[in-house]
Amino acid sequence: MSDGPASITFVTSRCRVHGQPEVTITFADGLLVPDSERLLLGHLEESVARGARFSAGQTLALGGQVLRFTARADGTLGLEEQVPAPTEQWIEAVDRSVREVMLQKFICESVGLPLTFPPPRASLLVARCAQDADAVTLTRVDAGDPKADLSGWQLSCAEEHQHDERFVLPVLALSALKPALVPFLALPPGTVVLVTPGPAHVFFEGEQRQPLPGSFLAKRNERAQRS
Ligand SMILES: [Zn+2]
Repeated sequence: MSDGPASITFVTSRCRVHGQPEVTITFADGLLVPDSERLLLGHLEESVARGARFSAGQTLALGGQVLRFTARADGTLGLEEQVPAPTEQWIEAVDRSVREVMLQKFICESVGLPLTFPPPRASLLVARCAQDADAVTLTRVDAGDPKADLSGWQLSCAEEHQHDERFVLPVLALSALKPALVPFLALPPGTVVLVTPGPAHVFFEGEQRQPLPGSFLAKRNERAQRS
């Protein structure tokens, strides 16, 4: 890949001592969430210390994301992520995956609910009326069998009517269609999120969860209220 001026790379430092090549991670658009490289570097180094061995072509789960190792000319392993596109496309970068995992963590912390990532390559059910709606409702039910690749999330418009027919959408595709919803996807089953052009409201088992003062969601809602 051609590195743009904003591109930034980090390399693990505790893999070689375990007989494993170090891993280079690339943020193609720079580091949008400060220190977020630590999440992935720590995950890689801890996995290797626990005995995991990686090679080109192998995949790595990070939260609900799937990354893939690639061989780099400098002798380290690189990491690729999938681009939300109709055809399968991978690029040597981790921007979207790391950003989504970080934002999902911030949202769960904001309302004091446990991080419950959707399974890698999971899907959600989308009512057609949600596609062009300004206000939408995300509802997570227990998906049952984790092998079924369902996240348990259902997306509809926020109107009280008989919602349109539902279709199955990969979570990855939601990153392209409605990126503002992705940060909420690690909230646990029992959660309902009402996302409006202004604030977003999180309900858990029927009770509204007020974002903690100063939290990521509190700040997001303040910004949305002002604009
Ligand atoms: Zn609807």
